[in-house]
Amino acid sequence: RSPAKRFERSESQVTFDDVAGLANAKKDLQEVAGYLKNPGHYRKLGAKIPRGILLMGPPGTGKTLMAKALAGESEAPFFSISGSEFIEMFVGVGASRVRDMFSEAKKDAPSIIFIDEIDSVGRARGAGVGGGHDEREQTLNQILGEMDGFDPQEAVVVVAATNRPDVLDAALMRPGRFDRKITLDLPDKAARREILEIHSRDVPLHGKVDLQRLAALTAGFAGADLENLINEAALLAGREDRSAVDMDCLLRARDKVVLGSEREMVIGE
Ligand code: ATP
Repeated sequence: RSPAKRFERSESQVTFDDVAGLANAKKDLQEVAGYLKNPGHYRKLGAKIPRGILLMGPPGTGKTLMAKALAGESEAPFFSISGSEFIEMFVGVGASRVRDMFSEAKKDAPSIIFIDEIDSVGRARGAGVGGGHDEREQTLNQILGEMDGFDPQEAVVVVAATNRPDVLDAALMRPGRFDRKITLDLPDKAARREILEIHSRDVPLHGKVDLQRLAALTAGFAGADLENLINEAALLAGREDRSAVDMDCLLRARDKVVLGSEREMVIGE
């Protein structure tokens, strides 16, 4: 195996049922899943399916989860890599990893390629801080080249995720590249309730727990924060030797998650 080979290949078990809210995004991706399940049918109709999809949204809103759900729904293998992995690499390594990944994905088509944190390689060229961005630029050029080089018949869909769409190089968004954009917003109250339900499926909740109320008290929380809240509450209940998670645990866990993200903000400044 070549040393440049370092991406993940997996079969995703996640489906759209595991994703709460985000109805519009699901609808768009359902179409793509339909195509990946039966590319021949679409080919006969002369239909062009989007090649590149950009998932945009704040941290923890389910971009990775959504990409995995697309793979699970499509029953297609999922090849993933994160843009941030390229930052510290020697020149040329990132580009050859990209080349390898696209080549494997094509062999395995219909398939999905997922590039997380595309902004770390896809920042507008010339706008970087400091010099020496050869590696990043070569990696980006390789991604763009691979996307341009697809045979239109090839059933490979490339999904990229970012929480910084504002810094992306316009070249990424040209037709035939990431020309389909899907925004994932922070969940509203109904979606927060659904997310709380999904993540407490395997957690014994006390009979008096009111997830609707908890959803009302967690405005501004991303899906990842809500998942974290449930887990913190379960840990609290465990520590205090309770047999179920009650509202008191959930509210204390909520405060802890709020404090945690405030601390992160201070450190991040
Ligand atoms: P980042 O920008 O930080 O990479 P992301 O947008 O890719 O974040 P994910 O990694 O997909 O976010 O989300 C983290 C976790 O939060 C998921 O594994 C999932 O458990 C939970 N989550 C986020 N959004 C949702 C949602 N809409 N429904 C259910 N769970 C969610």
